[in-house]
Amino acid sequence: MNSPQCKQTSFAPGTVCLVGAGPGDPELLTVKALRLIHSADVVVYDYLVSPGILAEIPAGCERVFVGKQAGHPCKPQEEIEQILVALAKQGKRVVRLKGGDPFVFGRGGEEAETLTQAGIPVQVIPGITAALGAAASSGIPLTHRAHASALVFLTGHESPGKPESAVRWEDYAKLRATLCIYMGRHRLASITQRLMDGGLSGDTPAAIIEAATTERRREVLATLSTLAERSEAAAIASPAIVIIGGVCARETAAVPEA
Ligand code: SAH
Repeated sequence: MNSPQCKQTSFAPGTVCLVGAGPGDPELLTVKALRLIHSADVVVYDYLVSPGILAEIPAGCERVFVGKQAGHPCKPQEEIEQILVALAKQGKRVVRLKGGDPFVFGRGGEEAETLTQAGIPVQVIPGITAALGAAASSGIPLTHRAHASALVFLTGHESPGKPESAVRWEDYAKLRATLCIYMGRHRLASITQRLMDGGLSGDTPAAIIEAATTERRREVLATLSTLAERSEAAAIASPAIVIIGGVCARETAAVPEA
C-alpha cells in the first residue's frame, strides 16, 4: 500500500471527503475509506451506514447523524449540505460517509456541487454499490455471456416533485440487460407489471435481496410475475434491492461468497 505508485489522498483541514461505505459489511470498505475515517475530525453519516462501520470511527471523532429512513422524517438535503459547509468552514477534516457509492443514487452529486460552490475542496472516494454487494452475496453474476451483456442501475423512487415517472419501464423490457432496481420495494407490483407490459416475459428470473452483506441478509428468488407477491409474503424490508434477468436463475449462479 505504500508503493510509490500508490498516491495517498491528502486530507487537509477544511476538506470534505465524500466516502462510500459500501453495502454494509465493514470488510467491504476500501482501504482509503478506512484511512480517511480514522483521520477525520468529524464523520457525517446516514442510516445505511452499518454499526460495524460506525465502530471504526475513532473515539475522539465527532459524529453527526443526518439519517434518512423511509417513512420517517429526515433532515432536508439542503440542511445536510449546510452542515457540511459549516463544518468545513470551521477548518475540520470532514468525512461524509454514505452507504454504497456516494455517486450512485446517493445525492453525492448535489453535495459535491454545493461544497464546490462554497469554495470547499471535495474528494470523492468510491464504494461498493448495493447492486454489486447484493449480487455477490447471492451468487448472481450480473453479466453473463449467455444471459446479459448489459447492466442497468435504476431507481424505483424518484423525487416527489417530478410530475411523472422519468423511468420508462417498458423501454427497459427490451434491452436484454440485467436490471438492478434501487429503492423499488414499495412500487414493486407496478414496476414488474410495467416491465411485463413492455414485453419482458413473466417467467424471467428475478430476486429481491434485503440488507445484503449484513447479518440481516435475506433474499427471495422468484420470477418477474411472482416477485412482488412473494416479496410481500416474506415481508422483505428496507434496504432491499431488486435484480431482474436470466442471471438470477439458480443454475447460472456462482457459488455465493463464504
Ligand atoms: N448510494 C447507495 C444507494 C443509496 S439509495 C449505493 O451505492 O448502494 C438506497 C437504496 O440502496 C436502498 O433503498 C436499497 O435499494 C439499496 N441498498 C443499499 N444498501 C443495501 C443493502 N445492504 N442491501 C440491499 N439493498 C441496499
